[in-house]
Formats: sequence, structure tokens, C-alpha cells
Amino acid sequence: MEQLPANDHNWNRKLIHLLWWILLVYEVAAMIGFLFDIYDQPSQWFHSFLQYQVIPTCLLLALMGAGYLAIHFLKRYSDFIMIIWAMTMVCVYMMCIPELMSSYELMSIPIILSSIYFQKKYIIFAYSLGLLSLTALIVSQVYNGYPITPAEVIVSLTVLTATALVCFAIMTKGISLVTELRASVVREQDLLIRNVMIDRLSKVDALTELFNHRSFQEHTDHLISHMPYDTPLELALMDIDNFKKINDTYGHWVGDVVLKTIGGLLKDMLGPDDMSFRYGGEEFAVLFVGKSHDEVLAVCESFMQIVRDTEIPEMPGQALTMSIGLAPYNRNTMKKAWFQQVDECLYIAKRNGKNCIHSYLSGQYT
Ligand code: GH3
Ligand code: MG
Ligand code: MG
Repeated sequence: MEQLPANDHNWNRKLIHLLWWILLVYEVAAMIGFLFDIYDQPSQWFHSFLQYQVIPTCLLLALMGAGYLAIHFLKRYSDFIMIIWAMTMVCVYMMCIPELMSSYELMSIPIILSSIYFQKKYIIFAYSLGLLSLTALIVSQVYNGYPITPAEVIVSLTVLTATALVCFAIMTKGISLVTELRASVVREQDLLIRNVMIDRLSKVDALTELFNHRSFQEHTDHLISHMPYDTPLELALMDIDNFKKINDTYGHWVGDVVLKTIGGLLKDMLGPDDMSFRYGGEEFAVLFVGKSHDEVLAVCESFMQIVRDTEIPEMPGQALTMSIGLAPYNRNTMKKAWFQQVDECLYIAKRNGKNCIHSYLSGQYT
């Protein structure tokens, strides 16, 4: 069965605080009892003070000191030390306070405390320590002439055993809850990762690893509705020239290599504000944000030059060219009309002999 980590420093610190609180509560209770004793038997006040206040307090303070030292020097065994510490504390109370002499069930407290660690070995250890302390206490009491009946011994043993069994049951239930919780966290993380992957797959083109047509539409809508009014937005539609011929001459797989290469070049060249997409087939779209038309034109021209200079090893000596249609977004124009302007520019660029850029500016195809 899965267990929780041992020697948890934070938990042991909390338990030590608890022991201090028990000591404090005892001191207050003993002081009240002492005042009653002075009232009832004024002549015996010193004896009462010694028995209820001085001896137990000194013993418990010495115990606290020893416990701190033991935990400090034996950190690896701090859980075991905490259990021994608590059991010794209980024994000190039982030995020093006559009214508690036969309250053997108090020895269940360290067993209950040991279940905090959620480990079988600590409960078994606390139970064994309880049996040992009980035997030692009973032997010393019998030796000192204190009357003990067999029924008292049987009841005490039963209480200790029942406490240990209940602690076992609680621990088992707790651990199965923790295991279930961990499994459900892992399931949730798996689901989250799968969702992210599915989301990515639905937005990214597998061949070029650029965003696909669907994300192009989403991103354009988002830009149009969220962009500040005066931020320029420009769309470039880039189409590889004579791509069908490349496919026919070198094979479809070389066509794929070309598409992949162009995708890589686009990603490398664009700035952080610009975004490239595989628009479809051998067409790419780029959204330029915050750049003037001249700046966009310069970027497109230098990209065309990069494409011209790129050697595809699978088609040696074969130059690669592209045609580009370009149009800035105008707030007074519908998105559909803007796309038509860019499309028309690309068509004109093709008609003008390809390997060139054509723009739509100030209401004119230039
Ligand atoms: P133009 O210069 O006028 O643009 O002519 P083109 O040959 O480039 O354009 P056309 O529209 O005639 O042909 C485009 C070809 O692109 C047709 C299609 O088979 C091919 N294609 C589309 N998607 C892919 C792909 O993913 N991989 C490959 N290898 N070819 C593709
Ligand atoms: Mg095309
Ligand atoms: Mg083409």
C-alpha cells in the first residue's frame, strides 16, 4: 500500500506545539487544584505543591529538553522520537499524579498520535511501546503494593488494542483517499495535455507547422475587433509560382519539401507582431500589425529575394519564385471586401508575369 513521506518536519513541529499546550493546560489545572488543596488542608500545602506542581513540571521540562535534543540530533528518527516522547509524557503524568495512576487508557493517546503519520510501522511501534509501558507501569505499581485487579489489566489491554485497530482503519481509509486523489489529479493532467494537443492539432498545419486557415480566420477576426483604431493592419497573400510544375517534374514529395521550406523561411523572417499562416495549397497569408505599407512592402520584397536565393537540394538549379498580393485593412471596408482586394492583387501579380508584388492602395490597384 502506498504510504506518506516519513519524518515530516512541519508535522512534528505542530505536534511539539501540541505537547507544549498540554503542558500549559496541565500547569493551569494543577495550579487550580493546588489552590483548592490550600483551602482544604492548609497544613499540607507544601507537600501538595511539590507533588502536583514542582516534580511533574521539572520532569516534563526535562523531557521536553531531551525530546528537542533527540529530534535535533536524530532527524531521521524524528517520528519515532515523537511517539516515545508522547508516551513518556503520559507515563510521567500517570506516575506523578495519584488520581491518574490507573488511567491506563491514557496510553492510547500516543497510538492515536502515531496515526497522524499515516504509516503502518508507526502505529505498530506506538502499540508495542504502549504494551511495554503498560507492563512496566503495572509491574512497578504491583511492586509498590498498589492494588490492581485482572479486570483492569484486561480492559486496558483491550482499549490499547482497539485504539490501534481503529487507527489502522482510519489510516487505510485515508491512504486510499489520497491514492484516489492522486490518480484523479493524474487523469486530469492527462486530459489537460490531450486537450492542449488536440487544440494545437486543430490550429496548426501538420506539414509546414504554420497556423492553418481556420486560425487565420479566427486571428483576423480577433485583430479587427480588438486592435486599437489607429494601428495599421496589412494582409499579404503569397502564392508559389508554377508549383504544379514542381509537383509534376520532381514529384509530390518534393512539392512538400518546398512548402515546408517556405514555411520555415516565413517563421524565421517575421517579427514578433506579424503572423504567418498556411492559407491553403501552396498559398501563405501573413498579417502585418503596426507596420506602415512601405515597411510591409520592404519585408515582402526581401522575403521574395530570400525565396529566390534558396536552393532546394531535391531540385538543383531550379529557381523558386513567389507572387504576392498586398492590401492594408481599412476600417470602412468589410473583411470580405478586404480579402477580395488582396486576392485581386495576387491575381494581377500573376497576370503581370509572376515573381512580383501587387498592392491595393488608396482605393486603387497599383
Ligand atoms: P501559379 O503560378 O499560377 O500559381 O500556378 P501553380 O501551378 O502554382 O498553381 P495551381 O493552382 O495550378 O497548382 C497548385 C498545385 O498545388 C495543385 C496542387 O496539387 C498542389 N498542392 C496543393 N497542396 C499541396 C500539398 O500539400 N503538397 C503538394 N506537394 N502539392 C500541393
Ligand atoms: Mg494557388
Ligand atoms: Mg501557385
